[in-house]
Amino acid sequence: MMIGEDRDETKINIYNDLMDTGCCKRCMLRFVGDVFRHINAKSQNGGDEQILKKLKLNPCVICLDLLQDASFETMVFHSELDEILQYDCDTFVNYISFPTSVLIREHAMEIYVKEKFPEFFKDHHIVPINRAWSLSIQNKLAKKLKKKYDKNSYLNIQFTTTYEFEKEESSIMCQLEDNFKKLNGKDDTLSRNAVGEFLKTISSAIFQKHVSVPPQMPGKAVVLNQVIYKHEPIFIAGRYCKYSRNLGQTPWILDNVKIVESSVQEIIFKALESVFNCKNLVFSASGREDFDVRTLGRGRPFFIKICDPKVTKISSEKFRSIEKAIKKTNLVKVRDLQFIDRKYLNNIKEELTGRNDLFELDMVTQAGTYIKEFVHGDFGRTKPSLSEIIGGHVDIVALDVLDIHLDFPPPITTEILQKN
Ligand SMILES: [Zn+2]
Repeated sequence: MMIGEDRDETKINIYNDLMDTGCCKRCMLRFVGDVFRHINAKSQNGGDEQILKKLKLNPCVICLDLLQDASFETMVFHSELDEILQYDCDTFVNYISFPTSVLIREHAMEIYVKEKFPEFFKDHHIVPINRAWSLSIQNKLAKKLKKKYDKNSYLNIQFTTTYEFEKEESSIMCQLEDNFKKLNGKDDTLSRNAVGEFLKTISSAIFQKHVSVPPQMPGKAVVLNQVIYKHEPIFIAGRYCKYSRNLGQTPWILDNVKIVESSVQEIIFKALESVFNCKNLVFSASGREDFDVRTLGRGRPFFIKICDPKVTKISSEKFRSIEKAIKKTNLVKVRDLQFIDRKYLNNIKEELTGRNDLFELDMVTQAGTYIKEFVHGDFGRTKPSLSEIIGGHVDIVALDVLDIHLDFPPPITTEILQKN
């Protein structure tokens, strides 16, 4: 193990070496640790002008300028970020997606410094690029978004970057070993995970035969491609009563025609959409009733998944006012409306219904067969049943009798009619 002055001296040597090969300041910091006092000392004394110039001339040989201030500026001041201000969530978590070229370059540089300074890197940890990126941008994002960084936040922000020579540089992976092609499938673009896993297994000798170590100066930097943001879904639950004999539970549409004018789902959604500033809602209930059946008493339990909600802070009073608005329809009443943790949903999940998986079934049966019971199994009392065969909940949306195979009375054809 190296100690004291020896270690400091080595740090300066590595730092100079990394700078010569074309690393940016942050990549040097990731690789060596606290090198900035050396950089600052240098620049305060007039510095090595030539080296500092070199730093500015080329995109970073490893991160392709992903970790440069200019790159953070572009990200933080991207117009999409203004949209994120709509979310009432107090926290955020940020992710970066960068080209595989960066991973390959990082690997090449790691081999380079570890071979040149084996003693130092024996017990020294290199900070991964995505961690360095995240640490560097967190505070800037927090200030811009007026939210706190929290790795468990429900509000995810993903930055995606591209690189002009990505395909060219990452295709080297396929030359390295035929196996990689198989591993990565037939897709042209190499996935970052596949490359990352592959680099762990390949020997440095083989790697160096195909990839330049240290990595070559890149002609271009990475470019911010897009910013994607999304709040994790939240769930609310309640119980509904249905007072109408002409109201579906969910919209009933056949051949683009609404069979029943409205539904419990539509009435509840209408009351929720404006409150949550969200149009992507999914309704689920514990069982269902036919449109001409009323549901009274305590009502039927249901829950609603609210996808990517902008508003997540709803007071108990607000919930009561939503219930009031629904009650005014005189068709549906909702009670016990509240936020619910995803883990409590399993209780009613088994009985979930939905009209997402619609299919048509043609059956020829004996006279007297109970068609409905055969389809849904009548709570296990009818065996076999379609429900049992499929292994899930099945119900009938619409039933048509197409033919009764009984020739009674004899058919009257036009010929017979004409004779008479
Ligand atoms: Zn860099």
